[in-house]
Amino acid sequence: MRSNYKLLSEELEAVLDHLPALVFYKDRDNRFLLVNKYVADAYGKTKAEMEGQSLSSFHDEETAERYHRDDLEVMASGDAKLNYEEEWRTAGGTRWVSTSKIPYFDADGRAKRIIGISIDITEKKHADALIQELIHRLEHEKRQAQENSLTDSLTQIPNRRYFDSTFKKEYFRLKRTKSPISILMIDIDYFKKYNDALGHVAGDACLKAVAACIQQCLLRPGDFAARYGGEEFCILLPDTDLNGADVMARRIVQAIADRNLPHPQSEASDRVSVSIGALTVFPSKLDNPDGLVAIADKALYRAKSKGRNRVELDFLYPDLDDLSGERGYISLSWNLSNISGCKELDLQHKSLIELSNRIIEKASAKAPLAETKADIERLLDQLKEHFAYEIEFLEKIQYPAASSHASIHASLLDKANRMITRYRDGTANLQDLLRFMVFDVAFEHMDQEDKKFFDFIPEDCKGVAGE
Ligand code: GH3
Ligand code: MG
Ligand code: MG
Repeated sequence: MRSNYKLLSEELEAVLDHLPALVFYKDRDNRFLLVNKYVADAYGKTKAEMEGQSLSSFHDEETAERYHRDDLEVMASGDAKLNYEEEWRTAGGTRWVSTSKIPYFDADGRAKRIIGISIDITEKKHADALIQELIHRLEHEKRQAQENSLTDSLTQIPNRRYFDSTFKKEYFRLKRTKSPISILMIDIDYFKKYNDALGHVAGDACLKAVAACIQQCLLRPGDFAARYGGEEFCILLPDTDLNGADVMARRIVQAIADRNLPHPQSEASDRVSVSIGALTVFPSKLDNPDGLVAIADKALYRAKSKGRNRVELDFLYPDLDDLSGERGYISLSWNLSNISGCKELDLQHKSLIELSNRIIEKASAKAPLAETKADIERLLDQLKEHFAYEIEFLEKIQYPAASSHASIHASLLDKANRMITRYRDGTANLQDLLRFMVFDVAFEHMDQEDKKFFDFIPEDCKGVAGE
């Protein structure tokens, strides 16, 4: 069907009619001078019916005016306006087009008409919207997955969420079996300074190395380590008493030291080090695990304030009587690391540990009070004798810190005397006394303070010790 407007050759008109786009030619009064077949079909008219007609015959006033404003703008500027997206309301509904309007100049150089081409991009728009929605949904799912994740994305070990649920499960399992559980809270020392000195990337690498190192220290299938947050890790040791927790914690401190990661800004060591707070509890004695992590955290805080790069222990037995019949009640251990090289000293240490263990056992088995009392008196006497002997020995080998060691002995003895007095008159309980033996004397003094003089003991100390 030929256009009645004689502007085009027949061939050119045929070409335009076959273009898959709206092609139109308009004057400055918003009238179509020419449209191709695509336009006519879209409006359900013939080309002849459209040509010479104003746009207001085919659109509402507001829409016709909008198209007109664009035309006038292009004509006034003399510049083409290319590829802008606009809504196109047709009888069949709203579609989207990408439109270009080009000014057509008369011989006098003035633009009085425009040539317009609009390509229908409705399908592409729908596809884009669909893609946007898919991206949005995927991001949402990814966020959801991260929130539900049980693995820490940096270190690839379980995260705090996983820890919390495992702790609950283990707690209630051990409640039934009446076994103990130990929790270790581990925190990297001066880690802020590490980041400040070496950068966050190095900080992240350090966290990964520490996580891997902690994992390698876990030997039993039930042991469980997680990244609790930032530079803090948490370990669960089911069926593990205080001695076990102590061994594990020290193993971790040592393993991190052996990893030999230089820390130029640490005040605790020249390498990356950790502080650990450990807590042992019997789940059968407490309703639920609430607040236990906070107690382990307090032990960690003590390790920090005592100089970091060390272990602090705590235990929770609500009542010593409850120990009877429990598996894994507290007992002190004697091992190779306790051997100083001076036989007499070692025998005294060993005997103190054995005597303490016997008291704990008797108390647990609810032995008659008299028996326990006699052992406690003996323990105190032995402690006094041993302390005196040890100081004499340290002076003989000219241990440089002998006098400060002696003042530690004095304050321990002072505490022991106050305790035994209260115990004799029945105002102190056995729990306090054992706490003193276990923590103050065995764990802190014998296991940490005493080991400091081991290196000062001569190869052959027989003459010194009078053996
Ligand atoms: P303290 O010995 O008392 O534990 O000192 P600290 O500096 O280790 O402790 P503090 O809590 O002041 O700082 C912890 C730092 O751990 C702060 C933060 O920059 C760093 N940190 C926490 N999470 C990340 C992490 O995912 N990557 C890195 N690179 N650093 C982290
Ligand atoms: Mg911290
Ligand atoms: Mg820290």
